[in-house]
Amino acid sequence: MRTSRRMDNLAPYLFVEINKKIAAKKALGEEIINFSIGDPDIPTPENVINKICQSANDPSNHRYPETFGLPELRQAIANWYKKRFNIILDPANEILPLQGSKEGIAHMALCFIDPGDVVLVPDPSYPVYTGGTVLAGGEVYYMPLLQKNRFLPDLGVIPEDILRKTKILWINYPNNPTGAVAEIDFFNRVVEFARKYELLVCHDGPYSEVAFDDYKPVSFLQAEGAKDVGVEFHSLSKSYNMTGWRIGMVVGNAEAVQALNTVKSNLDSGIPQAIQYAAIEALNNSQEAIDKHNAIYQRRRDLVIEVLNDIGVEAKPPKAGLYIWAKVPEGYTSIEFTNDLLDNLGIVVTPGTGYGAHGEGYVRLSLTIPDANLVKGLSRLSAWKNDKDKFKAKVRK
Ligand SMILES: *Cc1c(COP(=O)(O)O)cnc(C)c1O
Repeated sequence: MRTSRRMDNLAPYLFVEINKKIAAKKALGEEIINFSIGDPDIPTPENVINKICQSANDPSNHRYPETFGLPELRQAIANWYKKRFNIILDPANEILPLQGSKEGIAHMALCFIDPGDVVLVPDPSYPVYTGGTVLAGGEVYYMPLLQKNRFLPDLGVIPEDILRKTKILWINYPNNPTGAVAEIDFFNRVVEFARKYELLVCHDGPYSEVAFDDYKPVSFLQAEGAKDVGVEFHSLSKSYNMTGWRIGMVVGNAEAVQALNTVKSNLDSGIPQAIQYAAIEALNNSQEAIDKHNAIYQRRRDLVIEVLNDIGVEAKPPKAGLYIWAKVPEGYTSIEFTNDLLDNLGIVVTPGTGYGAHGEGYVRLSLTIPDANLVKGLSRLSAWKNDKDKFKAKVRK
């Protein structure tokens, strides 16, 4: 058997590798504290769960759904975008529900990318922008996200010959993994850039509702003319603790949204309707769960930052998102530090290099860890402070 050539260029999904390592440790009876995965630990809000149960009992939801989603869901998404961002979307052609935004993000490349076409991808970034591009036969050109640029890509340094072959630009704010945020002036510049080089902008914004200290992230679609050049991916996963139910959406430029609908209607048969009704419930009704969850994440964020800084690890409190992007101590690579934390303290973090070469020098800690485990993990980290020189000597041999 010979797998396709496109498989050769596809890296194993980051967390598959990490999970193998954790499983091996657990099999030895070790208690592992996992700071590595961004998957809300708090349950889905009760009103949403009740809606799923109620909808599951209705036989009209037992049959094939439409790829394009229930009209009521597209309307609920339009209403939510209007209320939250004051953006007007046409539910008829500017909104497409997704089986979680990950699949839509990956499939977008199939709509626009032919072999040899270039896709601009941030480095570090969520691995799916690259994975989708590779599966479509496209070429990835990485845009470094550097601390000195507040983790925004420097669009001005991308060579002209690359831009002539470029079809898609990926951006993601509030950002995973750096925790950076973008403001409307950056999005305005992106729109101008996309116009000049005739690119499709794909903004991935699943963390727009996870924000702290009264900070409110903006939407890419709030930029002047954004809908002419781009789309925004959004998800109920992080906003409403619904990762397990698989529902998200893409909104914006009608041509791009319809292209994805055409691809998807050949691949899948839509989102289970009971889940669509749950999404309508989440979007239409009280948003107070969001504030409640953000208060929990904010408290965790502050605890983690305090301990990290206390043990000499440099990290700043993010304004939004679920992650702390921490600098590894002097003398370590990201992988070395990650392995040390796992081998000596039973703590799992994600090495920055898992998100791209420019993640070197960083590790990512997620705030989606139950309080009891968080406290245990932090006390292990605190204790490490006293003998870290010994620890480091052991590691560095
Ligand atoms: C979590 C996440 C997503 C998508 O999650 P879905 O559950 O597939 O909707 C997309 N982009 C980024 C950057 C994420 O962190």
